[in-house]
Order: sequence, then C-alpha cells, then structure tokens
Amino acid sequence: MGTPASEKPTILTACQPTSHFHLGNYLGAVRRWADMQDDYECFFGVVDLHAMTAPYTPADLRRNTLECAAQYIACGLDPKRSNIFVQSHVTGHTELAWILGCLAPLGQLERMTQFKDKSKRIGQSVGAGLFFYPVLQAADILLYNADAVPVGEDQKQHLELARDLAQKFNNTYSETFKLPEPLIGKKGARIMALQDPESKMSKSDKNQSSTLYLFEPKESIRKKVMSAVTDSGSEISASDDKPGVSNLMSILSSLTGHSYEEIAGQFSGKGYAPFKEAVAEAVIATVEPLQARYQELMKDKDALNTVLKEGAEVAQKRAYKMLAKVYRKAGLLERVR
Ligand code: ATP
Ligand code: MG
Repeated sequence: MGTPASEKPTILTACQPTSHFHLGNYLGAVRRWADMQDDYECFFGVVDLHAMTAPYTPADLRRNTLECAAQYIACGLDPKRSNIFVQSHVTGHTELAWILGCLAPLGQLERMTQFKDKSKRIGQSVGAGLFFYPVLQAADILLYNADAVPVGEDQKQHLELARDLAQKFNNTYSETFKLPEPLIGKKGARIMALQDPESKMSKSDKNQSSTLYLFEPKESIRKKVMSAVTDSGSEISASDDKPGVSNLMSILSSLTGHSYEEIAGQFSGKGYAPFKEAVAEAVIATVEPLQARYQELMKDKDALNTVLKEGAEVAQKRAYKMLAKVYRKAGLLERVR
C-alpha cells in the first residue's frame, strides 16, 4: 500500500486551455507530472480563467477545456491517482486573487516578462486581466497550500511572485502559507520555437510553423521539423551561437534519452538533413500512442465530465478550508450561518 494522500506533499500545476498541447508543454511539463503521481498529492488544473486573458471565442474555450482534460489523461495523468479539475469549477481562485492582488506591488507586476511579451503581441487591446494573470496564478497555487509547483522554465518569474505574495501575506497577517518550491526539470525545461529559436515554443505564437502540436498529423510534424531554422555551418553541436540546432538536439535528447555527445557523434559529418529526419521520427514515435489514446477518450465525453466533477469536488474541499482561514486572518467578518 502507498502513502496515504494526506501525508504526501501537495503539488499544484496547470495548463491553459488555449489550444492543443505542444511539445514544450509535454517535455517541460505534463510528461514530468505523470511521473510524480505516486509521490505527491496532485492537483492538475485546467485554468480556463487564464485562457480569457487574450482574445478568444467562447465555443473554442468550452471545447478546449474538455479537450485539455483528455490530453492530460492521454499524456499519462491518471484520474484515479490525481485530481484533475477546471479552475472555474472551484470557488476560491478569484477570491484569493483579489486578496493577494491587494498585496501585490504594481512595479513587480510591470516587470513580468510574459506580460511584456504577450501584450506586445496583442497590442492596444490588451486587457487588464493579462496584467493581473500572475496574481491569479499565485492564488491557484496558494489556495491548495502547495509544497511544490512543477512547471517549465518560462514560469519561473511567476512562481517567484507567488512565493513573495505568500511571504507578504504571512508577514502582514500571520503565518498561513507555505512558500511553494519551483520544480523545474533539466531536460526539456524550455523548448524553443522552431522558426525563432530565441523565443519559447508557445501555443499563442502567431507563426504556427514554430509550434509542434502533439495531436497534429504526422506529415505536418515532419514538415515543420524539416523546415526548422538551423544555424550557419553544418555541424551538429549544442552551443549559444547555434540556438536552432541546440533546440533540436534538446528535443531529440529529451525524447530518446541519448546525451548530446551521443547525438553529435551519431550525426558527425552528415549534415542537417538526416539529423532533422531523426528528430521528426522521434517526435512521431512519441506522439503516435498519445494520439490513439486521445481519440479513444474523446469518444466518451460523459466519462471526461465525470473526471472533472470528481476532481472539482476534492479541490473545492481544500479550497474552502484555505479560503476560510485566509478570510479570518485578513479581518473579514465571518458570515453567521
Ligand atoms: P500560452 O502561449 O497560451 O501561454 P503556453 O504554450 O505557454 O501557452 P501554458 O498552458 O501557459 O502553455 O503552459 C503549460 C505548461 O507548459 C507550463 O508548466 C509551462 O511552464 C510549460 N511550457 C510552456 N511552454 C513551454 C516550453 N516552450 N518549453 C517547456 N515548457 C513549456
Ligand atoms: Mg504560457
């Protein structure tokens, strides 16, 4: 028998249901989460409220939310061992975000690189929600008093804010929150865009040939990898002045377990084409079984909704408990029942 859930440390982490998962989401995040399910009490959120921070279509958001849950399961998250839930199904995320927002320094939010990058892309119509997003993310984590948060490297700055806000709440009122530890893997922590290897691979990239989706057709995967930007020269080696080749090496190494030295040796003197073919083959071999499982899961939407219902029930219990504590400490008058 394993350790009871109540004695395990808690992790909370999430994806935005903005579109299908890409290879960065898988290697930097979800694949690692699947390996943590026996050692932690896991809360895996589908953070639909975050997905509203950029322009979107309601029907797409609804569909993406259910599909995100199916992708979690297809990638190895197991609803029997973990709690998979939708953020908007649980009361407490936005309430705690308000309380933390009252403590969050404006200057720190203005320095968030993701806000700067995304607002540049969206332009004048950028909503205040995108600015406030890291506070909501801090609330997502602190609502479960998570011990740790496994994320990709792009989330490091947001996690620092969550720790700062936890500390600030504890100092302002009294000891309440644990300071969540970031768990950032070494391999695959930051997969870069195929057409612009200086920026991270992202669902919201305008140039969709930069992003390798887990559930896209094989031929499209092959085409994207073969046309990925590489660097001058023809040598297969990882270095700062070869961001394109380094990114493909990192993908191949994460997928096959081969070291950079092994990969460099294998393709030495052969040029880029066979190397890229090997990367494409490795990606396809990885996604094939995930795609088959996903198709199966999408055939039974009732079962998916039941997973989300059960996940939200467990999450809500935790959330109410924490929220009551936070309200009391922050001086909000208890409602007489
Ligand atoms: P968006 O562009 O809409 O923000 P995204 O591609 O950043 O989408 P998220 O849903 O925000 O995806 O992130 C889900 C998880 O995937 C997070 O843990 C994040 O750290 C990780 N992640 C996102 N992009 C990458 C990447 N390029 N490399 C490694 N991990 C990543
Ligand atoms: Mg993101």
